[in-house]
Amino acid sequence: MVVKPRLRRPDHPIGGQDYPRTLEEFDEWFSSEAACTAYLTRLRWPTGFTCPACGGRSSWSTARGLLRCTACQRQTSPLAGTVLEGTRKPLRTWFQAMWYVTNQKSGFSALGLQRVLGFGSYQTAWTWLHKLRRAMVRPGRDRLRGSVEVDETYVGGAESGVDGRQTQDKSVVMVAVELLSPKGFGRVRLRCVPNASRVSLIGFVRDVVEPGSQVRTDGLLAYRELAEHGYLHSINVIQGSGVQAHVALPAVHRIAALLKRWLLGTHQGSVSARHLDYYLDEFTFRFNRRASGARGLLFYRLLQQALEVAPAPYRNIVGGRPFDAEDVVDHNL
Ligand SMILES: [Zn+2]
Repeated sequence: MVVKPRLRRPDHPIGGQDYPRTLEEFDEWFSSEAACTAYLTRLRWPTGFTCPACGGRSSWSTARGLLRCTACQRQTSPLAGTVLEGTRKPLRTWFQAMWYVTNQKSGFSALGLQRVLGFGSYQTAWTWLHKLRRAMVRPGRDRLRGSVEVDETYVGGAESGVDGRQTQDKSVVMVAVELLSPKGFGRVRLRCVPNASRVSLIGFVRDVVEPGSQVRTDGLLAYRELAEHGYLHSINVIQGSGVQAHVALPAVHRIAALLKRWLLGTHQGSVSARHLDYYLDEFTFRFNRRASGARGLLFYRLLQQALEVAPAPYRNIVGGRPFDAEDVVDHNL
């Protein structure tokens, strides 16, 4: 017997009722396009479809998977206005992509996704992953709170000293991580910034950390004005010379090491600085849900957020240019 998903409480979903717990359940629930469309429609309009033109609540499904309002006859795509808008591939394939991406602890590279979905084109798999990454950040998410460690790290580019090049090839990535008591990490936030200037550093903290929190940084002068913005600022001073930075800020150092290992492992370093921010979003999505035993719940959240974020047409992802090698590979990473 096929269990029909309930989806009655979208904010408190229950495994086996609101989201599939296993691949077997996934295959049962989403065996057809119609089943996928019905599930997605319920997730998008939890209290029932509402016509965007007239506000009508009554509709029927057309053969093409559209919802036709019984009052004004307007047809609405359940994908309109979402990150999946305009797709020409079956919804079921998108569901499979989301299932694979959330069930693998470290995720998939574009090549990996291309293989499991049997796509002819690497570029298609690459674009799909970028669309899904845009859904990995929940709009209006909370800021970090409590005790938060903040520092910058450098990703990509040649190591300074290796061939004489310095940090101009590297991306500056800001890292903030909640410190739990007595030990352990809470949530993280990461972002590329143009440089390690006062404006970049303070702007990042103000965006991602709740005022009133304790912010631990190194002794960089740029951080000194944090107190003026309502933070309890504490400086972890590195005693003496020759001491590695991780002694002073162990949490950020640990996150930065995990990030670099993930970029080099899952993505084999084929991450362009141009798109690094979106990889940071994926890393954050995975890290902040690392303790979740229910992978199906991650699938559910990813789909739910995919319906909340704006469309990301391919031309926007690549910035209006033709897709080229620079989009994929930073040879120095
Ligand atoms: Zn209508």
